Amino acid sequence: QGKYNLRSRKTLETVYLHYEGDRECEEFKAFEVYLKRIWFASGIHHHYGCEKFKPGFSEEYFYHLLENIGEKLLPIKRGETKEDLMRQLESILFDPEVMPKRVNQTDGEDLVLTSACNFYEDVTQEEVERFYAKMKNTDNPNPPSYGLNSKLTKRNNEVVELTWKEDGLYGETIREIVSWLLKAQKYAENEGQKHVIDLLVKFYRTGNLEDFDRYSIAWVEQHEGLVDFINGFIEVYGDPLGMKGTWEGIVEYKDLEATKRTQTISQNAQWFEDHSPVDPRFRKPEVKGVTANVICAAMLGGEEYPASAIGINLPNSNWIRQEHGSKSVTIGNLTDAYNKAAQGNGFRDEFVIDKETVALMNQYADITDDLHTDLHECLGHGSGKLLPGVDPDALKAYGSTIEEARADLFGLYYVADPKLVELGLTPSTDAYKAQYYTYLMNGLMTQLVRIEPGNNVEEAHMRNRQLIARWVYEKGAAEKVVELVKKDGKTYVVINDYEKVRELF
Ligand code: ZN
Repeated sequence: QGKYNLRSRKTLETVYLHYEGDRECEEFKAFEVYLKRIWFASGIHHHYGCEKFKPGFSEEYFYHLLENIGEKLLPIKRGETKEDLMRQLESILFDPEVMPKRVNQTDGEDLVLTSACNFYEDVTQEEVERFYAKMKNTDNPNPPSYGLNSKLTKRNNEVVELTWKEDGLYGETIREIVSWLLKAQKYAENEGQKHVIDLLVKFYRTGNLEDFDRYSIAWVEQHEGLVDFINGFIEVYGDPLGMKGTWEGIVEYKDLEATKRTQTISQNAQWFEDHSPVDPRFRKPEVKGVTANVICAAMLGGEEYPASAIGINLPNSNWIRQEHGSKSVTIGNLTDAYNKAAQGNGFRDEFVIDKETVALMNQYADITDDLHTDLHECLGHGSGKLLPGVDPDALKAYGSTIEEARADLFGLYYVADPKLVELGLTPSTDAYKAQYYTYLMNGLMTQLVRIEPGNNVEEAHMRNRQLIARWVYEKGAAEKVVELVKKDGKTYVVINDYEKVRELF
């Protein structure tokens, strides 16, 4: 996520463990808050907002803290002094001009040079695009995900790819991953799982993306057993060009009772695809192998920790999804925790327009929220197809946001469909209104609590929610389908015509 994140975190953690001065003063409290934010975001940038955190204490105090710490405890490299470390971190942590954004998606700027993510070094966006354009052979119907597992940089003025593999970049860490995978393999429930682990280990050893595709195909076709995992360089949201995967890991087990819900949805996947309101050229004539489970996360790591997704649909490779299907999970123990945390915290009383809507949400928001996640993951991302010859990365910086919008819209459209009542998934034809209100209130207003005033929405899922909610608000403005009204100096979302909202979705 950033070249200096681990170094920054290790330094601050050392202070936290060993500082012997006053820990009760304002500045130390501010230091603790800053360190907690770094722990939660796994780096010096907000995990959603992407902007660099501003420390609530001064540079002078930072120097004071470090002066108290013995040199041997700090992550000082050979040939470097403590003074060097302090000066480097001072500029990285405090200077607002240095690495201001983790992922920059501002149109017209060089997205590679202006993003702090650690996927590129000394190369421009144009050089990156030229490098991968040469690799992408559009004649290959089954292209690997070029660039997924490497850093792009320069050696002797030539652009080179440093591959993340056992004897490549991050080799020491990757050998550690491999050794734990081999230990886990002994406890596999069946031969199929053992084979999947073999293929993943092979990929970590060779760094060959075709090995990763072979692993992904075996993984997506492996359904037996109660336990499954996700492990690898998976999601590309951390790269402004949407190519490079951030490492993540999950170990999960099935929630058999709740899985009946997602199985009903996936068994009807073809019906949903056939009735989808998109241009028929983009519908899949035959939906393949959408498997959907509600699972409990037993362990989260890398990009999935501590801030985790609540639903995941993989693999990301377009041609594998088309030919072999995809596996989709809703992480039931996390959504359950979110729902419980939201009960009685006063949020709805504060932000929702009236008591009737609050009552509607109290009755149906949890169930329709889960359903929206299921529809988004099992059907939304798995739905549709590209026209032949279209580069899956063609949308560049817009790609992640539009892919999320596509999946969300699929869910929003269908959560109101009478088919869900017929399938026994929603208790009444009105239940969807709770999801529509929640969604529009979040997109138009309440998701912004995560953003510092004056900053832009940067993260792909948040951009997508804003995109959909604003679009519906604007397109429905003439007929007052959705309004923002002021009451006692506060702004509220009002939905006047739920059926129209569905049409707009
Ligand atoms: Zn998604």
